[in-house]
Amino acid sequence: MTAAGFIWDPRVASHVYRADHPLKPKRLVAVHDTLERLGAFARPDARLLAPRPATRAEIERIHGSDYVEAVMRASADPDGDHTEWGLSAYGDTPPFAGMHEISLLTTGGTLVAMEEVLAGRLRVAFNGSGGLHHAMRRRASGFCIYNDPAIVCGLLADRGLKVAYVDIDAHHGDGVQAAFYDTDQVLTISLHQFGLVPRERRIFFPGTGSPAERGTGRGAGYSINVALPAYTDGAAYVRAFDAVVPPLLERYRPDVLVTQQGIDSHFDDPLTNLMVSTQAREHVVRQFAASSWPWVAMGGGGYSMDAVRRTWSMEFLIMQGTPIPTELHDADPPEWTGDERARIDAAVDEAITGALDAAWT
Ligand SMILES: [Zn+2]
Repeated sequence: MTAAGFIWDPRVASHVYRADHPLKPKRLVAVHDTLERLGAFARPDARLLAPRPATRAEIERIHGSDYVEAVMRASADPDGDHTEWGLSAYGDTPPFAGMHEISLLTTGGTLVAMEEVLAGRLRVAFNGSGGLHHAMRRRASGFCIYNDPAIVCGLLADRGLKVAYVDIDAHHGDGVQAAFYDTDQVLTISLHQFGLVPRERRIFFPGTGSPAERGTGRGAGYSINVALPAYTDGAAYVRAFDAVVPPLLERYRPDVLVTQQGIDSHFDDPLTNLMVSTQAREHVVRQFAASSWPWVAMGGGGYSMDAVRRTWSMEFLIMQGTPIPTELHDADPPEWTGDERARIDAAVDEAITGALDAAWT
């Protein structure tokens, strides 16, 4: 079965974090409209699905009750002081009116995806408004309020299912890793930029995600980090993915695959220094599609409007098994040669070795 669901409600694409904020939910309108123009939703195996609001109990699978109440207060009174909960007007995650309600809906979209896929009605479902992987138990972080990937992984684990979570956002999936650091029930694999930001005196956000973070207790070896150097291009990225992800998924044999598909790793993205192309992403997402597990897919970061539009449209077509029009691909993706090629390849080799050495045996 190749039936693929696209979670859609214009409300998840109409909120604004702050006028100058890089995360622009309206980017999803461009993805939806591109797919509609390409006829993706007219195919017999396509389903447009409305999200539902997540329940309080579902949110509290991961988040503290005090934090949820703080978000509700911030949602009703965004001009108040909510900084102790990671919500600050000029910070990464500003409070805005209605933030609780919209976050229930973006989280509920991922829950609908999970329910449809588990019931066997769909092979895969994609919630572009989800993938908010930085939110912590009692703290908003990195544009993320409620951690929908962690909530879904937790609810799946509660049903006794083995969950593989693969995070291909440019940033470390820190909130999801933290939620399952001591359990082997959820395998987390994150590929991300790591270390100093070139030409700047700061560490790339969020700063975690070294291969040494491998889990504790029963979870030892079930948190896997592929810590990529700045300027990793598509060829090097594909090499790292192929060396780590398919072999570990085969070894783990999950019941469900959960993916966070942030596209801030694209070479056009203004917030990161990775240089991934749509061609590299096609390769990666085809690996997910070739697997046989029920598959819950989410968006994530992505701050180049055009890269988001083309890549997530392409990725939904892959989920459908539909041919990809050339217009969605990068025309001329960058690729290193010479000394820089050798330098990137050596650093990526180190990232691969670190990730594989960290894994359970
Ligand atoms: Zn990101």
